[in-house]
Amino acid sequence: MKSLTQSSIKIGILGGGQLGWMMILEGRKYPFTFYVMDELDAPACRIADKCFKPEEYKKMIDEVDIVTFEFEHVKEEALQYAEDQGKLLPRLNSVELKRERWKEKVYYKDHGLPTPHFYVANDGEEALKILKDEFNNVGVIKQSRGGYDGKGQYFIKNDVEKYSFIKDMKCKFVVEEFVNFDYEASIIAVRDRKGNFKAYPPTFNYNEKGILVYNYGPLNDPRFAEIAKKLMDSLNYVGTMGIEFFVRGNEILINEFAPRVHNTGHYTLDTAFVSQFEQHIRAITDLELGTTELLSYGGMVNILGTDNVPPEVLRYGKVYWYGKKEVRKRRKMGHVNFTAKDLEEAKQKVDIIIKLIYPQGLDL
Ligand code: AMP
Repeated sequence: MKSLTQSSIKIGILGGGQLGWMMILEGRKYPFTFYVMDELDAPACRIADKCFKPEEYKKMIDEVDIVTFEFEHVKEEALQYAEDQGKLLPRLNSVELKRERWKEKVYYKDHGLPTPHFYVANDGEEALKILKDEFNNVGVIKQSRGGYDGKGQYFIKNDVEKYSFIKDMKCKFVVEEFVNFDYEASIIAVRDRKGNFKAYPPTFNYNEKGILVYNYGPLNDPRFAEIAKKLMDSLNYVGTMGIEFFVRGNEILINEFAPRVHNTGHYTLDTAFVSQFEQHIRAITDLELGTTELLSYGGMVNILGTDNVPPEVLRYGKVYWYGKKEVRKRRKMGHVNFTAKDLEEAKQKVDIIIKLIYPQGLDL
């Protein structure tokens, strides 16, 4: 086996947001070089060995050994070029499912993976008709393309008249049942090039207006990992993946997967021996995966749309500040990780940290 410390692998990351930033922070332990494709002031570019503008993607991809991405909706030509060069991990097949939500949903159905009841509509008129005929005007209409963090999603609960504008929309939609879930959860799992699979314990998540506010755990239920393994094996996936679920009674339903490190896995930086970011780097560089056992209970609170974080927060956790120049409503500016002795203490810490960061309440 080649010496770990004598291998100097060059990794190119498409996208320079906070996920790429943490990938580099964690990957720096190894003798690897990190290049990033994004604008110079992006969080990951600030700490990369070299930053390439989006139009220089070919140059970056030609210079590196492996290409990965921190965001699946990054420049399509760059993903395609990296795939064509045989350098992209995870491969394009998982990204393709994310480009069109309907393809992702049909994939679950075809592979026997549990997901909310849904139909595919070819335009807005059909979407509204399905909502009426199949769901009695209570459901969620989601644009097939370009919808993430709650964008392009319409939650309709007997107020369908407010959504008549959808009728004129000429794009594809997924129309799905409104899930009255008990709670939302997610799992972070990793699979290497040989097909070895590992999963962290799932966590409880809280989303508001389609955006994650906090999560904590662990939640003990082996079914989440079984579903993750089935999905990742079917895609022959390499790298870290995040999968979000709705839990309703005894039922667990996949809402969506992200073919990358995930916001609900940030707590592994402080509660696990090996973080989701390091696992991703290990998986794509063909190193052995690390343990996914947690060392403690814990979780994370997102810092959304504010750059005013009181220092008292440090009594309860650790701040990760992404260094984005501009504060915008709903924008992920940083997060706070914390550890806890049990789930009850974890929930208490969430409440305290939320009150400190959002003294006037959350405004999303
Ligand atoms: P998504 O962009 O699909 O991850 O959805 C963002 C959030 O919207 C989810 O985390 C849920 O809180 C909510 N949501 C999405 N789809 C549904 C659904 N079918 N029923 C109830 N809530 C939903």
